[in-house]
Amino acid sequence: MDKQTTEEFVNQAWDGSIIPELCEYIKVPNKSPMFDPDWEQHGYMDQAVSMFEKWCKAQPIKGMQVEVVRLEGRTPVLFIDIPGESDDVVLLYGHYDKQPEFSGWDDDLDPWTPVIKDGKLYGRGGADDGYAVFGSLTAIRALQEQGVPHARCIVLIEGCEESGSFDLPFYIDHLGDRLGSPSLVVCLDAECGNYDQFWCTTSLRGNLTGKLRVDVLTEGVHSGSAGGIVPSSFRILRQLLSRIEDETSGKILIEELFVEIPEQRQQQAQLAASILDDSVWRKFPWADASSSPSESVYELLLNNNWRPALTVTGADGMPALVNAGNTLLPNTTLKLSFRLPPTADADEAAEAVKAVLEADTPAFAKASFEVESTMAGWNAPPVADWLEASMEKASQDYFGKPSVYMGTGGTIPFMGMLGEKFPEAQFLVTGLLGPNSNAHGPNEFLHIEKGKKLTCCVAQVLEDHLARS
Ligand SMILES: [Zn+2]
Repeated sequence: MDKQTTEEFVNQAWDGSIIPELCEYIKVPNKSPMFDPDWEQHGYMDQAVSMFEKWCKAQPIKGMQVEVVRLEGRTPVLFIDIPGESDDVVLLYGHYDKQPEFSGWDDDLDPWTPVIKDGKLYGRGGADDGYAVFGSLTAIRALQEQGVPHARCIVLIEGCEESGSFDLPFYIDHLGDRLGSPSLVVCLDAECGNYDQFWCTTSLRGNLTGKLRVDVLTEGVHSGSAGGIVPSSFRILRQLLSRIEDETSGKILIEELFVEIPEQRQQQAQLAASILDDSVWRKFPWADASSSPSESVYELLLNNNWRPALTVTGADGMPALVNAGNTLLPNTTLKLSFRLPPTADADEAAEAVKAVLEADTPAFAKASFEVESTMAGWNAPPVADWLEASMEKASQDYFGKPSVYMGTGGTIPFMGMLGEKFPEAQFLVTGLLGPNSNAHGPNEFLHIEKGKKLTCCVAQVLEDHLARS
């Protein structure tokens, strides 16, 4: 594969076709089913997957078959089968469902309005993860245009990732043999430490969500008449939360949620810490930018990649401020979202958390923790020599810098499933979710230059994959 020819082809594809297509895609509010339970009636998911299908079918790729696979009541899957020089299979993965809007977008930005500014395409779902299908097919085309052979490629784009991929196992069963037995999985839905080199994710955290509910009364009462006699449901919640999290340090207090951190991952974290330095924490939009963390960058990375953490992501039973009178609330529910270490058993973690929260409930209160979802994390198998060499070459060729490995704090449920199903496969888990790209929050953007270079790198890895033996 010629470097310059590849760059020219990929850049042209992005500027002439991918960016305009992503702009149209950003306008579609196709929120993942967890955030839009009426997604079927709304039709946005269909609209998005149809746009992708149409674009894919227009790509002149030899022998390619593009199909939208639909199981009743489940989000459709875009399935693309591209024959290659060998029946060895590369599975390329991405998703087309989106996170909800969230608040706090800049005045000139909006989740459903594409805006290009300073080399970035702003809007919901561009970087997470609309570009994946375009990047995958463009990398394959870049090879074919130059007559460079590649293995058979299967591209799988699902519509349920942001909800924990609960529809995906049904499709995996349904597709069966059509998925083949991939020797390489390319996942274009991950983070990158910066926009200056090729990053490979070696581990992902698991996730556990659930609702912690405390009831103290059967209806709200005057807080003047009840205060001092009836406990506040919020106080009981604080008490329960203190059982699972140290409220000063944020450290999780449940043994079952921790794992031993592998030696190699500690070394990789050392290297990543030296490259990323304080950007690891500076990249966040702090309200108080004058503070600095008490732990080293290395420890912060391990906290983020290999240790559990808790976030309270929502509340019910608590009126908005405008409606908040002097009422003692009958019940309050918090949504808890835990990130779990890559190798932790998510179901065991859920049981442990539930047991701690529901034991010895304080007097005059009822407490329950209803587990909503559990997702396994993922830890990559040792990287094969050919893949390590290929990534290094790709990063040097297109970024002029070495490739880097890191763990990330997010969760991609499918990687856990694949790791179990295909233990022999190699994984290239990478993506555009770098500093400030803010998928899931306001002002999400796609770094266009990085998107182009990443596409070139994927093409390089596909070439080397076939040539590896
Ligand atoms: Zn994603």
